[in-house]
Amino acid sequence: LQANQVQTSGNRPLHKVKHIIAVASCKGGVGKSTIAVNLAFTLAKLGGKVGIMDADIYGPSLSILVSIGNYATLQLLNGFYWSSISVKLMSFGYINTESAIMRGPMIANMMNQLLTETDWGCLDYLVIDMPPGTGDIQLTICQTISLDAAVIVTTPQQLSFQDVIKGIYMFDKVSVPCVALVENMAYLEPKDMPNKRYYLFGNGKGQKIADDYGIPFMESLPLDPDLCRWSDSGTPAVLVVSESKIAQLYHALASAV
Ligand code: ADP
Repeated sequence: LQANQVQTSGNRPLHKVKHIIAVASCKGGVGKSTIAVNLAFTLAKLGGKVGIMDADIYGPSLSILVSIGNYATLQLLNGFYWSSISVKLMSFGYINTESAIMRGPMIANMMNQLLTETDWGCLDYLVIDMPPGTGDIQLTICQTISLDAAVIVTTPQQLSFQDVIKGIYMFDKVSVPCVALVENMAYLEPKDMPNKRYYLFGNGKGQKIADDYGIPFMESLPLDPDLCRWSDSGTPAVLVVSESKIAQLYHALASAV
């Protein structure tokens, strides 16, 4: 891939944030926001100071995936209390529950304000849940802040990964390394048959994209009805990406930044 053409501005208004990671898919509905939330909370559980910014103004998800009411209440899930884990959250959905009926420049303004005027404080990681597409708003994000790395989310279907490839090219043009590819909803593992995997949409697509585009780290996640239930109830999904995988992702990020 050839990097250049669109240059990042190189300035960093979020100067107390050590690493900024974009989670992107370019296609809606593949589980990008779910993975972004899970990544943020798992990084925090592993000891990092973490924030997550929902950059989708037209269709914010963070306020649904992490309901502040639930977050404030002690919830014991998989053996630990989420409320003891502190993640800074920002989404247009926390501010305004009505739809954002705005033209592009206003959206870009709003996004900039939420991103750069939020008091994130000192963070090890700021995870940015990118809106779908490769247009104005995505470029605004890339040019306003220096992203350190991108995590790409896809599902195994052709429709998903053809958009994902556009996203990989976009990050390449703005010189942001894609350090990980997550193939979500890759298979179904029935609870009563734990060793049986059904690859409903075909097998091996994620690995092929990772190989073709030189993305160093690939993880396949199953279709998981529990995950969907947690998300719908506004409770952060628990360790969809296992801790050992997150540790590997840490290494991939560390070598990329
Ligand atoms: P995106 O950000 O790509 O639009 P979301 O993260 O909002 O996608 O996920 C869309 C829906 O799919 C949500 O209801 C979410 O709970 C569900 N979902 C995501 N990943 C999985 C999964 N691995 N198994 C089951 N449901 C999932």
